[in-house]
Amino acid sequence: MANHSNGSSKDSFTIPEIKFTKLFINGQFVDSFSGKTFETIDPRSGEVIAKMAEGDVEDVNLAVKAAREAFDHGKWPRMSGYERGRLMMKFADLIEEHIEELAALDSIDAGKLLTMGKIVDIPSCIHLLRYYAGAADKIHGNTLKVAGEYQGYSLKEPIGVVGHITPWNYPSTMFFLKVSPALAAGCTMIVKPAEQTPLSALFYAHLAKQAGIPDGVLNVVNGFGSTAGAALSSHMDVDKISFTGSPEVGRLIMEAAAKSNLKTVSLELGGKSPLIIFDDADVDMAVNLARLAIFFNKGEICVAGSRVYVQEGIYDEFVKKAVASAKSWVVGDPFDPQVQQGPQVNKTQFERVLRYIEHGKREGATLLTGGKPCGEKGYYIEPTIFADVKEDMLIAQDEIFGPVMSLMKFKTIEEAIERANCTRYGLAAGIVTKDLNIANRVSRSIRAGTIWVNCYFAFDPDCPFGGYKMSGFGRDQGLDAMEKYLQVKSVITPIYSSPWL
Ligand code: ADP
Repeated sequence: MANHSNGSSKDSFTIPEIKFTKLFINGQFVDSFSGKTFETIDPRSGEVIAKMAEGDVEDVNLAVKAAREAFDHGKWPRMSGYERGRLMMKFADLIEEHIEELAALDSIDAGKLLTMGKIVDIPSCIHLLRYYAGAADKIHGNTLKVAGEYQGYSLKEPIGVVGHITPWNYPSTMFFLKVSPALAAGCTMIVKPAEQTPLSALFYAHLAKQAGIPDGVLNVVNGFGSTAGAALSSHMDVDKISFTGSPEVGRLIMEAAAKSNLKTVSLELGGKSPLIIFDDADVDMAVNLARLAIFFNKGEICVAGSRVYVQEGIYDEFVKKAVASAKSWVVGDPFDPQVQQGPQVNKTQFERVLRYIEHGKREGATLLTGGKPCGEKGYYIEPTIFADVKEDMLIAQDEIFGPVMSLMKFKTIEEAIERANCTRYGLAAGIVTKDLNIANRVSRSIRAGTIWVNCYFAFDPDCPFGGYKMSGFGRDQGLDAMEKYLQVKSVITPIYSSPWL
């Protein structure tokens, strides 16, 4: 049984005041066109936190109209990169003044640890915004050597109106992974946050306005995927969709783009990341890393190290220690600073994870620890470890998005590489070894967008992040992410006036 903290009463910790529940369109908080609302739920208890304005086709149309006007005739794409960067810096400063409140909004909405929100999530959003603010005045084209008596240059121009469709596991980080480079590029945008976590995006919209970002540049339309999300991805006046979420919805978005205006699309679609631990590893360090890689953020993280491959020489010791370390992982109220794992985001997700656990048992994997709900109410699940997992089992192939580790034993490097690569995903991988040759060889052989050697979850705005294979395409973070929001124009002029002109 996992260590469940008792401090799980809703009243034990300070609950943030919910200030913003409407849609944010053209610089104003407005009700939805239909007047409809939907409930956002506290995963600690299943109780309603707030009723949110529910955007649909009409609201998306209004938001796109505002973003189109701000792009076609407004100041934002026309001002210097330096000026855009200054406003983005101001936006970042305002966020810094509200870290505690913003972290609390994500905690209550998504069950995320408040402490982590304060020291990791929200500061990393500020970092992202400042990184791209610094890049806004460094967007360069090239001079082109054109054959004949011509000269040319290329211009990088903002792609236009962007739709960002985000998931619920990192409401703030996902918002800024997408919004920051798009703002720096000079785009205007509509964000459609996940319906499970609609709160913090509206606060950011409010702060963007305070910072002086012009009306219409950043719009937020909460609502459901099949209505508001679908309206955005099929809109004729949206030039690009940047999406993070499931492969199924990624496919729908590509279809919608293909059937409408052939807008460009970038997709980050999750993963089933391997963590490969070699015989020469420090076992205690490897156990800590493996625990973090799967139980952090309750396994609701696209790069979770959900498949742990351990070399045979240290396998038995690793298993014993991993089980003990999972049992000492504290599950409970995410507002409690002692807690390491909060509740799953909602009932649907909670039940889905439990179904996968039952499936794992039926498939013949050995349940070493966990496997059950915990706590008296809310959507808490024990940190769970399966051993004897085989690659053809569903729990080794599907992204469970919960605190479920699959342990597997391997003999040789070749075998580890082969097995690590055998899912349809390719988002990230971890390697634990002291041998540089092994680290380099495996890093180059794994088909994934991020490789962590002797660490995990080491993120920085400067490191491009995204998938290989069915984990998607296009990169968030780094200067590569700017490219998604820019397009290139070639301008060619004659050097001498041609006699026939
Ligand atoms: P998850 O499985 O993590 O909930 P989803 O892919 O279902 O991820 O959702 C991610 C985002 O995609 C959410 O903002 C959701 O509302 C949105 N979404 C869901 N269905 C569609 C759709 N048909 N078109 C556009 N967006 C959608």
